[in-house]
Amino acid sequence: MLQKITANTYYLINDDEKERPTLGVISGGNASLVVDAGNSSLHAQELISEVKRLRLPPIKYVVVTHAHWDHFLGVNEYEAHFIVSKKTNEKLQFWKSCSFSDEGLKEIDREMNVGSTFSEIIKTELNDRDTFQLKDADIIFDNQLTLDLGDMLCTIDEMDSTHTEDATVVYNPKEKVVFFGDATYGKTTESLFHYSHNKIDSMIQNAKKYQVNWSVLGHESVCDRDEMDLYWSELTSSSRAVHTSSLKGSIDTFRLNEGREPTDNEMFFIKAFINDIIIELKS
Ligand SMILES: [Zn+2]
Repeated sequence: MLQKITANTYYLINDDEKERPTLGVISGGNASLVVDAGNSSLHAQELISEVKRLRLPPIKYVVVTHAHWDHFLGVNEYEAHFIVSKKTNEKLQFWKSCSFSDEGLKEIDREMNVGSTFSEIIKTELNDRDTFQLKDADIIFDNQLTLDLGDMLCTIDEMDSTHTEDATVVYNPKEKVVFFGDATYGKTTESLFHYSHNKIDSMIQNAKKYQVNWSVLGHESVCDRDEMDLYWSELTSSSRAVHTSSLKGSIDTFRLNEGREPTDNEMFFIKAFINDIIIELKS
């Protein structure tokens, strides 16, 4: 069910079992914009029927935040302008050439880091998969785009991310809501979950420039300002503690810097920054 964040901004909560990310809807006087298309036909159809049920203005735009399959494979269901950044569009070229037949799914699994349940979900949730071909983007932007939904301006920005090279953020300045997609998360490389030391400061700086009361992250419920401030400060304190691959050394540095023990979240982040060093050492 679509849940209201502010007067004209909604979200459809993620479902981890089905690998469904959180989707967003912003409605203006004459059009609605959808943030992330969904991971499949069925996921997209759920959003589309919710928009109809709530009698929101018709969906005119679908913005895909980055080229991870769970965020865009539902896009063919929409009769709307499909919007991506230039970087995301480049990454989508691979997916446009993919077959989603049994054999094709095996090939995707070999080529991309799609996760263990990818094939299962596609087999049950992607319509006409034997002939499915990902549609072309209609609007490809570089850097920034502003859309007017009818007395409701939305800005669509590329941002520095610790999750992907292509990250797009959708911002509703009037209602002070931002959709980050997965931009503020870490990523998994060779089975190691890590946060990039090189990108963390610019990611946080980028993210903090939005004047918001509510932030929506790609795989969870909406966060208020205090929750986001805590997230930024825990990420910052953890990154400042890690200079080597030693967990003990990093925790000692953390205690020295902060004068306290790391929280559970900070322990998780410290390990992710250590993994980043381990990956760098390997390459
Ligand atoms: Zn992602």
